Amino acid sequence: MKSHIAYISGGSNIGNGLLNCKNGIAALTESGACVLKNQSRFYKTEPVDYKNQRWFVNFAVKIETALNPFQLLNKLKSIERDAGRTYDSVRFGPRILDLDIIMYDDIVINSSVLMVPHPRMHKRRFVLRSVCDIDQKIVHPVLKKNMKQLLDELNDKKQGMVRCQ
Ligand code: ADP
Ligand code: MG
Repeated sequence: MKSHIAYISGGSNIGNGLLNCKNGIAALTESGACVLKNQSRFYKTEPVDYKNQRWFVNFAVKIETALNPFQLLNKLKSIERDAGRTYDSVRFGPRILDLDIIMYDDIVINSSVLMVPHPRMHKRRFVLRSVCDIDQKIVHPVLKKNMKQLLDELNDKKQGMVRCQ
């Protein structure tokens, strides 16, 4: 079966954020559907779109998988649900676990349920910083810039972000 490389960004700001993130990574690998290739540091990050909530714990992982992008999205959603996530709350609001597909090979998808690369990845410091921990040289297939360039060009220098201890 053909395998693919994907980058997943994760975050949590309900309960023990660090533990929720670690459990999310474990669930990805334990499912047998994904092999963990690399992982970023964990960061505490200031909320971006909806400010009135706790800081998040965020990370990124590089995985190898035989799942196609839509199967992978469903896998991520089932892991979110197993972690106790409900989908009735405010958009961009607090969540126990959020797992997003950042990139999948060099594929570009613009469907109503899935957009790859993730449409806001190049505007989010916590995504670019954590993907840079893994590989600064991977190139955004639409913007044609690598992760280091996108991070350097980011206008929003204000987003609070510190490494987890
Ligand atoms: P957020 O955008 O804050 O991650 P949600 O996790 O609630 O919000 O996701 C909302 C919807 O975004 C999901 O149901 C999913 O169908 C869709 N979506 C589109 N592109 C992606 C992607 N690259 N990764 C994850 N979800 C995505
Ligand atoms: Mg999400």
